[in-house]
Amino acid sequence: DIAIDALDKQFGQTQVLHQVSLAIADGEFVAVLGPSGCGKTTLLRCLAGFERLDGGRIAIGGETVSGPGRHLPPEKRGIGVVFQNYALWPHMSVAQNVAYGLKIAGLPKPDRDRRVAHVLDLVELGPLAKRRPADLSGGQRQRVALARCLAMESRVVLLDEPLANLDVHLRGTLEEEFARFHARSGATMFYITHDQAEALALADRVAVMDRGRILQFAPPQALFRQPASEAVAGFIGEGR
Ligand code: ATP
Repeated sequence: DIAIDALDKQFGQTQVLHQVSLAIADGEFVAVLGPSGCGKTTLLRCLAGFERLDGGRIAIGGETVSGPGRHLPPEKRGIGVVFQNYALWPHMSVAQNVAYGLKIAGLPKPDRDRRVAHVLDLVELGPLAKRRPADLSGGQRQRVALARCLAMESRVVLLDEPLANLDVHLRGTLEEEFARFHARSGATMFYITHDQAEALALADRVAVMDRGRILQFAPPQALFRQPASEAVAGFIGEGR
């Protein structure tokens, strides 16, 4: 499980996260929904270990990974991350980009090749396996980043707006793929989006966020039926 407890984060004088607390069960699919600039990415970066906290504590599987006097580096947290700007290695092919993490993890080449072929197939990039990132569209690059993350089969997967920039067809395909991946792997998913429909369709529970605070953390139906505030009701209703 993931326990985020009273997390505070500031950049200079600006407090970006205020007392954020979320308890996430193993295997849960959680979406963090909120407008641009509300602090979603910062929360993800804290969880991933790319930011230090100014207060509070984060534990993964009972182990404190961020807290007073403690900061476990990202690579030791057992999590996979797909960032908004999905940095790929320009000198490597698509397949090499996806295989790299598996190589570092010490997976033997035949297993690596099999897994790379499988995930490239999932994101419909098999035919482009030998291309360089520079010769791909933005959406294709995003799919490489996704494939790279899925290949690692992490127990916790963090995704920052993974469907932004994609066309409607691919959004639909990949949404289904996330749901399938989640069902099959049992991984805990932490999924950031500003798109209500996406959050409500995918998540077991949605954390509605505004100006650095969690307004409500509940299953989609509960957000509709019992919104905790007018702000939540307005925000959830917006997309419909
Ligand atoms: P978006 O969906 O647009 O990415 P977000 O909800 O993910 O938005 P964050 O990226 O977490 O929001 O940013 C929250 C606030 O913190 C913003 O006001 C942003 O300008 C500020 N911020 C983020 N990173 C830094 C930083 N490194 N230094 C200073 N301010 C920052």
